[in-house]
Amino acid sequence: MADFDLAIIGGGLNGVSVARDAAGRGLRVILIEQGDLASAASSASGRLVQGDLLALERRAFRRTRAALAERDIWMRIAPHLVRPARFVIPAHANERPAWLLRLGLLVYDRLSASRSLPPSEAIDITHHRIGDALQRPFGVAFAYSDGLVDDSRLVVATAMDAAERGAVIRTGARCVRADRLDIWRLAVIDRGHRQIITARSLANAAGAFAPIVAETVLRTPPPRAIPIKMGQIVVSRLFETDNVYAFQNHDGRLIFASPYHRDFTMIGTVTSPFKGDPAAVSMTADEVAYLCNAANRYFRERIGASDVVRLMAGVNLVATGPGRRFAREGTVMFDARRRKAPLVTVFGGDLTTARRRAERAVSYLLPFYPMSPPWTAHAALPGGDFPAEQFETEVERARERWKFLNSDQALRLVSAYGTRLDGILGDAKAPADLGASFGAELTEAEVRYLMAKEWARFPDDVLWRRSKLGLTMEPADRERLAAFMAKAQLLP
Ligand SMILES: Cc1cc2nc3c(=O)[nH]c(=O)nc-3n(C[C@H](O)[C@H](O)[C@H](O)COP(=O)(O)OP(=O)(O)OC[C@H]3O[C@@H](n4cnc5c(N)ncnc54)[C@H](O)[C@@H]3O)c2cc1C
Repeated sequence: MADFDLAIIGGGLNGVSVARDAAGRGLRVILIEQGDLASAASSASGRLVQGDLLALERRAFRRTRAALAERDIWMRIAPHLVRPARFVIPAHANERPAWLLRLGLLVYDRLSASRSLPPSEAIDITHHRIGDALQRPFGVAFAYSDGLVDDSRLVVATAMDAAERGAVIRTGARCVRADRLDIWRLAVIDRGHRQIITARSLANAAGAFAPIVAETVLRTPPPRAIPIKMGQIVVSRLFETDNVYAFQNHDGRLIFASPYHRDFTMIGTVTSPFKGDPAAVSMTADEVAYLCNAANRYFRERIGASDVVRLMAGVNLVATGPGRRFAREGTVMFDARRRKAPLVTVFGGDLTTARRRAERAVSYLLPFYPMSPPWTAHAALPGGDFPAEQFETEVERARERWKFLNSDQALRLVSAYGTRLDGILGDAKAPADLGASFGAELTEAEVRYLMAKEWARFPDDVLWRRSKLGLTMEPADRERLAAFMAKAQLLP
């Protein structure tokens, strides 16, 4: 008998979504991630949870409707992590005519089933806050509704849900070999120790590494796909509103400038073909210049490479060849052979459609196991068990209960942990009750929680994936955090 029904290689959003779906349907699941959860593409995204407006230009109406439905599901099941935002497209004299934008947005409204998000509208921004940060010529803009997600926290919350439904989540564990018999026999290196794990089926959810894993670990033909590099930059805050600006670039693409952790603005995405090791992906000077130039066409405040405080790049795989699907939907491939354990390969696509992709992937295993029906669209992720429209009430409630929190702190904590905040702050009456402080609002209580409940092991896990406090943390505080975490790991 195998140790598990399903082993998953890869702890990005695709992998953890498969783990969550399968564990909730009664399978015995193990997920193996070589680094930290969301350590690759899933923490480098533009954070957009959307139907994709430009897909309408390709007449992808059905897919846009389906993506909008997924957007609404995320907002319902993870209301702390996926927040509605008002996106604004300034009309630009050299780009799509205003009537076309208006028409596209009316169609977008029609395809959205959401009752709670406001529909699109035209706004005269000449004397409007939205126009304050923009250059003079922009008189009209079009506003519409979509969502922004904390990408890496979505991955962690999904993994937590999987774990709470019985899945084993192993980070820092690299799958180096998988032998395909009537069961899978996996060799895993975990903190220097080699271990054998057996599973009745296997999911290759290794993202841009999926072809490498197929060839070198599973020794099966790699999926036919091309790697695409995508990148974003982060600069100091360029505007005061909480809107997301969607700028039409001269190449027809939309470049998004979104509020990023209070004092910053994220600008993306630039894409280009990629060759090489996905672990060593980085952005070129040209790519940074492309994003700066796109922003400089619209914002009053000009930016250049020296203003960039953080670069984020990742590699996504896009399937090629027959059977190729719409890129945003990603790819699910199934391989079943006589007397050989089944293999599912899941890669690419966007964050928005990951839940549905996982559902599809797990459904391939239906003939092999008794399974309960799909369920993930209706169950809240950890911390998300409150109605989306009560988000502000949750923030106020936190401030009432933990009176020492200021409004920014309460907002950050509720946005990150939702109703699980109690597990960090508990009965604390004053900051001193939360133990040591590491600056940048980070306390010992939060670090302990992240290590105990969210698989954080190293400072980067805390500072860049469980939070973005790395943006403001001083080097000396980081050293103290590193020393604290190293010591805490050694304690029983
Ligand atoms: C820059 C960028 C911007 C994007 N912007 C958006 C956006 O705005 N909106 C949106 O919806 N989508 C966006 N996407 C797409 C989205 O981020 C991806 O669809 C998603 O993150 C892919 O997740 P994944 O799980 O397939 O891959 P990954 O997140 O890359 O995860 C794969 C994991 O497999 C692990 N792994 C590899 N080999 C092994 C092994 N041998 N053993 C154990 N573990 C292994 C890796 O360490 C990695 O953590 C963007 C993507 C990028 C790169």
